[in-house]
Order: sequence, then structure tokens, then C-alpha cells
Amino acid sequence: MKLKSRLLTAFLIITALPIFLITIAVGTIARYQANSIEQTYDVKSDTIKLISNPLQILSRLTRGVYNEIVITAVHSPEKFEDEKYINYLNNELKGKYSYIVLRKGDNFIYSGDEEKLDNNKSYFPRYGEYKTDMEGGFYVDGKNPFLLKQQDFHFTDGTEGSIFVVTDVDTLVPQIKASAIQLACSLVFVVMLTAGVLIIWIYRSILRPLNTLHAATDAMKEGNLDYSIEGDPEDEIGQLCVDFEEMRIRLKELIEVRLKYEEDTKELISNISHDLKTPITAIKGYAEGIMDGVADTQEKQAKYIKTIYTKANDMSALVDELSFYSKIDCNTMPYTFANINLHDYFSDCIEELNLDLEVKNIEFIYENQTDHGLKVSADAEQLKRVINNIIGNSVKYIGSKKGLIKIQIKDIGEYVQISIEDSGQGIAEKDLPFIFDRFYRADASRNSTKGGTGLGLAIVKKIIQDHMGTIWAESEEGKGTTIYFTLKKSKEVI
Ligand code: ATP
Ligand code: MG
Repeated sequence: MKLKSRLLTAFLIITALPIFLITIAVGTIARYQANSIEQTYDVKSDTIKLISNPLQILSRLTRGVYNEIVITAVHSPEKFEDEKYINYLNNELKGKYSYIVLRKGDNFIYSGDEEKLDNNKSYFPRYGEYKTDMEGGFYVDGKNPFLLKQQDFHFTDGTEGSIFVVTDVDTLVPQIKASAIQLACSLVFVVMLTAGVLIIWIYRSILRPLNTLHAATDAMKEGNLDYSIEGDPEDEIGQLCVDFEEMRIRLKELIEVRLKYEEDTKELISNISHDLKTPITAIKGYAEGIMDGVADTQEKQAKYIKTIYTKANDMSALVDELSFYSKIDCNTMPYTFANINLHDYFSDCIEELNLDLEVKNIEFIYENQTDHGLKVSADAEQLKRVINNIIGNSVKYIGSKKGLIKIQIKDIGEYVQISIEDSGQGIAEKDLPFIFDRFYRADASRNSTKGGTGLGLAIVKKIIQDHMGTIWAESEEGKGTTIYFTLKKSKEVI
């Protein structure tokens, strides 16, 4: 999941989950408390009213008796001096957690619950202090909280009197307090739960891949390029892990290439020194032979000098080939590409080669299956070098026996394929994959008297690659070898 969607989801969870859970918690607690209020005070009302204004609901319990008191106070207040009437009123309130209190002047002359009255006397409003708009009574907080309704009147002797309907809310208040505490606890719980869930989620989705990345960078810092990591490309941090992994692979490849290059350079220096040392040793030996008088006849001296000359020539050829190879290998070879007509080009080539091969007792076959107007984009001189090198090898490895060389040209779509087949000694299977490596010479060739540096096919391969072509070989020991290469067709066709 993308970081953006993740943050959006986190926002939704932070807002929606607590609201949802708190609604459930409030609903459950409210219903539970409302039930218990209903059961305790035997009232029926809907949950919201019971919880939002329980005192008003409770005041309903005593509404009937209180209305009677109000009427009596207006029409026949003397009734309040009749104990029987007061007892009747008090009995009416029994079972409703309520009782009657009567005050004459400053003296309380009647109480339905003496004990509670003693504790609460000071809370009772004085004559005339009770507001008539307090229809539902008013709440008095104290040791035993209660709901109070008051009616003032005058006794027959003119003394100020007040009659009170007192409703105990002892049980109700702790219940409301408990509800508030439960609600606060559930709020804290819900918030902690949401935060916890989010922290785990964020840890898993953000911190974990970051830790993985951290471990990978540490490993890389210590030079360990094999520490591989995985990431989910669907999210940004996962994508970062994937990119990091690609960077690690690339870096590893680059280092491997560099190491291989260093290895190759060492090998190259060792090969060059070896290949130069052989003719130099020979030259030194023959020169010493002349100087020490070992070559005592004119004939011998002439032979020694000729050998020195040949070896010097070999060295010169080797140095030339080396300098050409290093030029081509460093990509400093200037190619002159042109659109060459394949048919004309090979016809000229074949004419030159035919003479040579005839002398060497080698039969030569040339087959061009392409359109005669076909052109390829190539450097004519370098292409000649390629053909000469391959044919040179064929001639060298056919040896003195009667042989055959066959050149075939085929159209293979975007490219033309040229194959040069010979009936020479062939190449052993184990050597075949390496013949295009520089300085590589198969054992059979190295042990023979046939000269060579092993650079010929390496040069050929590089030239073909610089022409955007490919080169490969097929061979069977004792039967012969075929070298294939491709050249890109030129767009221009006559
Ligand atoms: P150079 O071409 O530098 O004088 P070379 O001919 O030995 O020396 P390459 O042309 O690079 O080197 O060939 C590499 C090796 O591949 C040869 O030494 C030989 O063992 C083998 N090889 C190449 N062409 C043929 C062939 N036509 N028949 C048999 N072996 C071959
Ligand atoms: Mg060669």
C-alpha cells in the first residue's frame, strides 16, 4: 500500500475507530445504568432521558403527591396541622424513596425519616426561598444527596410553614458517578487500543522495511555485497528496498567486471612477456652462436642470420598484432563505415583468395544466396581482416593435406549470415568455447609447429561486435570447423 493511502487509512482509523468503539461503550454503559435506575426506582423512560436527566425522571415519582400538596396549601392549609393527613401523604410516598418533612417556623415538626433529616436540616431552604419555577425540585448535595420539593403556607396561627417532599438519590448519584468513571475508562481504553493498533501497523509497514534497509546498508558498508533484501514494490519504502537491491546487484556486477579486468590485464602482461621471450631467447642464442664462432662456416652463419631475421620478423608481427589489438580493445580504432555491395565485395575477395588456395591444393567453394543488390554497412578494410584471419586459420589448420574451404552467404532478415567452413583438423569440444578469447590457443595448435599468438580470433570477434554483428563457431574434431558471423544489412538497397 502506498504511504499516502497508508496515512489516509491511519487518519480514518484514528477518527472512526474511537468514535465507533466509544459509541458502543457509551450505548452499553448507558443501557446498563438505565436498567439499574429503572429497577431501583421503578420508573420507565427511554435510555437517553434516564441518563441525560435522571433527576427529572425521579421527580415524576412524586409529582402526584406534590400536586395535591400545592392544592391543599392554597385551599385548605389547615389540613397540614392534621397528623393523619400528613401520615397519609407520607404513606403515599413510601416505596418511592421519598418522605414528607414539615417545618413550622424554624422547627421541624414532622419527618418521614428522622435520621436523614438530622443530617440534612441545614440544607432545607428557608420560607420563601424556594423558587416556584423549580418544577422538578432541586438537587441538594450532602452526605445523603436528595431531591427536594417545597411548598410554603401559613399555619392557622399565622406561623410560616413549609412542607417538603424529599426524594433520596443516594443510590442514583453513585450510579451516575460509576457511569462517568466507566465512560472515562472506556475512553482511555479505546484511545490506547487505537493508538496501539496503529503503532503496530506503522511499525510493521514502515519501520520493518526501514530496519531491513538499515541492515543491508550496514552489510554493504562492511563490504558484504551478497546481503540480499526484498521489498514490496507497491509501497514507497518497499520500492526503495527494491531499488536498493538493484543497486547492490549492479554494484556487485561492476566490482566483478573490474576484478575480471584486473585479472585479464595481469594475464595479458604475462602472455606478452612469454610470447616475446621465446623469439628473443632464440635471437640471443643464434647471435651468441655467431659471436662464439659456433657458426664456423659461411653456410651456418647464413642460416643463423636467417633465423635471427625470421624471429625478429615474428616479434615485429607480434608487436604489430598486439598494438592493433590494444587499439581495437580500447575502442580507439577509427572505423570507416560504408554501404558495401556484398556481392561485388566478396567477388573481389574470392578472386584474390582463389589464386592463393589453388597453390595450396585447397578446393574453394563460394555460394551467395542473397540478392545481388544487397548492401551491408561495414568498414571494407576491417572486414577483409576478418575474412583473411578466418581463412588464414582454415589454411593453417588444414595443413598440407588436400582440403576444402566453403564460403556461404545467407539472408536471415535484418542481417546476412556468412559462414566459412573448412575440412581441417577441427577443434576439441573443450577448446571451442574459448577460441575467441585473446591469447587462447587450443593444445593441439600450441603443441604444433604452426605459429600464432592466439590474438587472431579475438580481433575478429571485436571487429564483428563493433559492426553490431555476432560471431560463433561449430566444429568437430577431425572433420572441420565452421565460423559463422553476421552483418547488419544497410537500409540502402539498389
Ligand atoms: P594468430 O591468429 O594470432 O596467429 P592463432 O591462429 O593460433 O594465432 P586464433 O586465430 O585466435 O589464434 O585461433 C585460436 C585457436 O583456435 C587456434 O590456436 C586454434 O587452436 C583454434 N582454431 C581457430 N581456427 C581453427 C580452424 N579453422 N581449425 C582448427 N582450429 C582452429
Ligand atoms: Mg589465427
